[in-house]
Amino acid sequence: MAGYNRKAAVIGAGVGGLATASRLAARGHEVSVFEKLSQCGGRANVIEDKGFKFDTGPSFVLMPDFFKEIFEDCGEDIKDHLDLKPLEVSYKIFFPDGDTFTVYRDSDRTKQDMERIESGSSAGFDSFIRYSGDIYKAVKPLLSECMTLKSLISLSKLALLPKIHPLSTFWKAASGFFKTDKLRYAFTFESMFMGVSPFETPAFYSVITYSDHVEKIAHPMGGMYQIPKALENVALKKGAKFNYNSEVKQIEEKNDAISLKVNGREEVFDLAVCNADLPYSKSELLGQELPKYRYSCSVFLMYMGLKKKLKGFEHHNLFFARDLEKNIEEIFKTNKVSKDPSFYLHVPTVTDPTLAPEGKEILYFLIPVPNLCVNEKGVDGREEELRDLVLKKMKEITGEDIEPLIETEHRFYPRDFTRRYNILNGATFGLSHNLTQSAFFRPPNYEPRVKNLYYVGASTQPGGGLPVVLAGSMAAVKLIEKGVNSSRGGNRP
Ligand SMILES: Cc1cc2nc3c(=O)[nH]c(=O)nc-3n(C[C@H](O)[C@H](O)[C@H](O)COP(=O)(O)OP(=O)(O)OC[C@H]3O[C@@H](n4cnc5c(N)ncnc54)[C@H](O)[C@@H]3O)c2cc1C
Repeated sequence: MAGYNRKAAVIGAGVGGLATASRLAARGHEVSVFEKLSQCGGRANVIEDKGFKFDTGPSFVLMPDFFKEIFEDCGEDIKDHLDLKPLEVSYKIFFPDGDTFTVYRDSDRTKQDMERIESGSSAGFDSFIRYSGDIYKAVKPLLSECMTLKSLISLSKLALLPKIHPLSTFWKAASGFFKTDKLRYAFTFESMFMGVSPFETPAFYSVITYSDHVEKIAHPMGGMYQIPKALENVALKKGAKFNYNSEVKQIEEKNDAISLKVNGREEVFDLAVCNADLPYSKSELLGQELPKYRYSCSVFLMYMGLKKKLKGFEHHNLFFARDLEKNIEEIFKTNKVSKDPSFYLHVPTVTDPTLAPEGKEILYFLIPVPNLCVNEKGVDGREEELRDLVLKKMKEITGEDIEPLIETEHRFYPRDFTRRYNILNGATFGLSHNLTQSAFFRPPNYEPRVKNLYYVGASTQPGGGLPVVLAGSMAAVKLIEKGVNSSRGGNRP
């Protein structure tokens, strides 16, 4: 089917939509993007205020190969679009007892710090890296393929199963390599960035920790928003047309084509790729009844511009609750807003002073909280308390009282994910990444009930996170190029 150029709509200009629009336009398809908001990026967005440039969503650039790949696939060189600066300090963990653990680009320095916390742990580190590295090698090529049970039943894929330890959890895996809870948490907290408990996340998600430590972490100079802007530029250069302030209200299969209701009109395309979050798209745009999906947790976000720079913080900082197991239970099981929350603190001005006026600092706090499906009030009525708890804890642990230094402040609540981005239940990271919603169990990159309709983004395969969503856009484009779920081919994987 390759070489047959078609009229394609992309619904949503999040990173998944932008990547898909770029790939399709680069292949010669006639692409129109419809985005509800006035600018691109979706969850990877930006707020500019008083000379501060706050990236509002993702802050870690992991798995750099997937970033390089999208530009290469469109005939471009990533270096012409993004200035990715490697971080010498990947992140710093502040434990509640005042101890810290720093992860460096140089793993020998990381190991020295680990040995101070747990004697003999550097050998555990090497084994953990071998273990997660083997999984990564097995999983990486699959991320750009739409997986189904049928596609799994090939000998080569079945042979991969034992390598990815499908029945073990992230926590169990880390516990096999580290004896102290401090290091076990330090090697599993990444699951929280997918909105899932480390006690429940399958062990194969340890590939994120592997990427942190082996492929390391980078920062796009000028801020994370450079990533969607770069993809938008590539899509425009390849001929895609962008329609902002254009919320699609309905998707319908019509005479072997796809009809969209948008801006009070009907627009007809040969195919559409939906980047609006999958559960919302199925329920609100297609009118389907949803299966009993499980959703990721939500987050409460605070962005602050400070009058002066702070000392002792790194670009990425993590503060753990005194009783982290209880905190994780509160987020995922008892559905409470914690009295002792764990939180992540992003200080991008450590690396990139262009993001704030001279001599000033940006702080971005991310506090995981239950989603609105399990706690419908979210943090409503608890915002000030949560804010105070976080600032108090930061002061206790680091001695920094930032309240008098705040020049400007913005907040983002669980309900805002639904209101702004159409993400059901304020589930920040979309559908949960538990075993029964991972790999071929996760909704595929096409809509089984509507021909010529495809999905890309955090809640479809392979899952959430920028590099993974970028890989997913390749999976969707491969289906389109092969004519899968097409009125011309009609076949399904
Ligand atoms: C706070 C936070 C921190 C994160 N941290 C990291 C990190 O450090 N590293 C990392 O790799 N990932 C991180 N992530 C995850 C990553 O940001 C997401 O997985 C990714 O951005 C999701 O992209 P997406 O393509 O699914 O689209 P989305 O970002 O969900 O975009 C979908 C777009 O569709 C639009 N839309 C919705 N409905 C309609 C409609 N009806 N018509 C038209 N348009 C519509 C929305 O407005 C939106 O622009 C983080 C996410 C958040 C929120």
